[in-house]
Amino acid sequence: MTGLLTGIGSGLLDLIYPPRCRTCDAEIGQADLALELCETCIVDLVCLPRERCPACGKINLKRKPDRSLCFECRSGLRRFDRAISVYVYAGAFRKLWHRVKFTRHPEWIPSIVDAALEKLTPDDEFNPFLFDAYTWVPTTDHRKSVRGFDPAEEIAGYLARKYNRPIVQFLRRIRDTAPQFELGRRARIKNVEGVFAAAIPAGQRTRAVLLIDDILTTGATASACADALKSRGVQKVVLFTLARGA
Ligand SMILES: [Zn+2]
Ligand SMILES: [Zn+2]
Repeated sequence: MTGLLTGIGSGLLDLIYPPRCRTCDAEIGQADLALELCETCIVDLVCLPRERCPACGKINLKRKPDRSLCFECRSGLRRFDRAISVYVYAGAFRKLWHRVKFTRHPEWIPSIVDAALEKLTPDDEFNPFLFDAYTWVPTTDHRKSVRGFDPAEEIAGYLARKYNRPIVQFLRRIRDTAPQFELGRRARIKNVEGVFAAAIPAGQRTRAVLLIDDILTTGATASACADALKSRGVQKVVLFTLARGA
């Protein structure tokens, strides 16, 4: 009976306050859409194309149907072994993620992660149970205190609960950096050199680690994190992000 009443209650609430798209504020007809996005924004949520680097997911802009490695992966500049991403960081995903971060909606993160996981294909070869532990790329203390949460930590926490895997904060920033988005590619790599230190608790099995972040752009930050982890004996680092830049 309580369930029925609650159902009626939320139906009434939907009439008075129709649910709105998390991204553009348009009214949503079907209130049960898990992501709470309008149809226009759903369509504008673009997944990575199949034509991408099989190791890091970098989009092959020439759309060659081959599965050859991108330049960065071929040159060995990347310190993580593989990267798994779902969306292109553009359009509706970019707007949605800005809202999560800047209007502070960490409570949206589980539904966004679930929607992203549903988009993974066998090509992604994502097996959440192959890792000894999950960890994340920590944001700066300043940004965390301004926002009240660290998006990467929230994603990692949700994934760890979902798959019942240990989550450990292995990484910390040992110096501050300029925000990466203001910099070019080479400057980004320089900017994050020596920024992260990894500490592995005694007795923690860490042969393979899933490193989690929200967005992958050049990969310089994730690479610096993978480098710190590997300097502490981790053998395999796979990066998981919700989106990556084109
Ligand atoms: Zn919308
Ligand atoms: Zn690559």
